Amino acid sequence: MMADRLVCRECHRVQEAVEAEACDACGSTSLTEDWAGYVVISHPEKSAIAEEMGVTQPGKYALKVR
Ligand SMILES: [Zn+2]
Repeated sequence: MMADRLVCRECHRVQEAVEAEACDACGSTSLTEDWAGYVVISHPEKSAIAEEMGVTQPGKYALKVR
């Protein structure tokens, strides 16, 4: 289950630490539990989704963040 993971509102990155206080990618402290779906992006430079989301780092990203 990923449901208790926090997601960054700025870059949509799913946080590796369950009790993260700041985004491990962009450093934002605007994290939320209110998100749905995620995509694993391993090669952002080759991914249309990554380009659309503005993702440059490999990782897990939430599709919907409220
Ligand atoms: Zn972030």
